[in-house]
Amino acid sequence: MYKVTMLAVLLAGALNAQAAMVYTGDKIDGHPVISKLDVDDLQAGKVYRFMFQGASNGIGQHWYVPVLVAKGATPGPKLGLQAAVHGDELNGIRVIQQVFEQLNPAELKGTVVGALGANPTGMLANNRNWQVPTDGGYTVDFNRIWPGKEKGNPAEQQAWLLWNNLWAGNANLFVDMHTQSTGTEYPLFIYADYRNPQVKKMAELFPADQIKADPGEKGTVETTFVEQKIPAITLEIGQPKLYQPELIARSLTGVRNLMVDQGMTPGKLGATAKEQKTYIGNEMTSIRAEMGGFAEVLVKVGDSVVKGQKVAVQRNAFGDILREYTATQTGKVLAIGNDPLRESGALLVRILFTNPDAKCADGC
Ligand SMILES: [Zn+2]
Repeated sequence: MYKVTMLAVLLAGALNAQAAMVYTGDKIDGHPVISKLDVDDLQAGKVYRFMFQGASNGIGQHWYVPVLVAKGATPGPKLGLQAAVHGDELNGIRVIQQVFEQLNPAELKGTVVGALGANPTGMLANNRNWQVPTDGGYTVDFNRIWPGKEKGNPAEQQAWLLWNNLWAGNANLFVDMHTQSTGTEYPLFIYADYRNPQVKKMAELFPADQIKADPGEKGTVETTFVEQKIPAITLEIGQPKLYQPELIARSLTGVRNLMVDQGMTPGKLGATAKEQKTYIGNEMTSIRAEMGGFAEVLVKVGDSVVKGQKVAVQRNAFGDILREYTATQTGKVLAIGNDPLRESGALLVRILFTNPDAKCADGC
């Protein structure tokens, strides 16, 4: 009896030693501040709200990321959701809120973690980039520097903290939610690394308008996860600085489908890529302004275009035509520049298409 008790005590001690939730002792608006999340260390069958302590700033304070955690009653997959890595890309915030509004931890198998605004500096500045005020200021694209650096600039430190202390061990499936940039527009669109069959399956559980089979881009959240063999997609939800209810609803259906497919939640699959008749391409091309001027884009997102079709005109302030632009490929309009004021190099029209070359099967 004594031996059994001692064993239980030792075992409990060992488990405690592994437990890795770190509470700083602070509270913000009543929510506990954490500097490390370990979902295995939380009580099952509950939903938690935390403020995750991120990088410090020039006035000696921290940036915080609100985090929701649903720990299911029984163990299972660990789904990670993140919004606003780019600060002006906000539809994903509402998607994550709705995922948690609909969750019932008593019937959830596994855990769901949602980070509601990974880049607070960009969110406050209406800008995609991480804002660094030092020496007059500079900005960092916060989706090109993952997994960050412990001793890097503030953006790199924020990525390092999120990667190591929020996501490591707490996600084995990941959806990073974006939109197009300010002045441009996507439909509901997914970048997915089709070389990984789990990623392909994950992407096609979403009733998106378009999917790009894509080898990924170094330094993005999605590619950083995929390199660690954790299936991840970049979900592009329409336009920046807006809530778009129809695209939010379809994103929610996709996340729920993912959970049903993984056995995390009971129920049937909703609409997937099959029902949505999602256009899946393996290459894209961008038609960009060759000079500054006011652009009139003649096509809409989702339109089919043929090579040679006129897709945009650019005028000077008096209305004289400066340039006309034609489609460089036959395919679907994936994105447009919807802000008429276009500098040289600015996006006018992006076309998603299918390159028949075998080497492009999983994305070029
Ligand atoms: Zn983005």
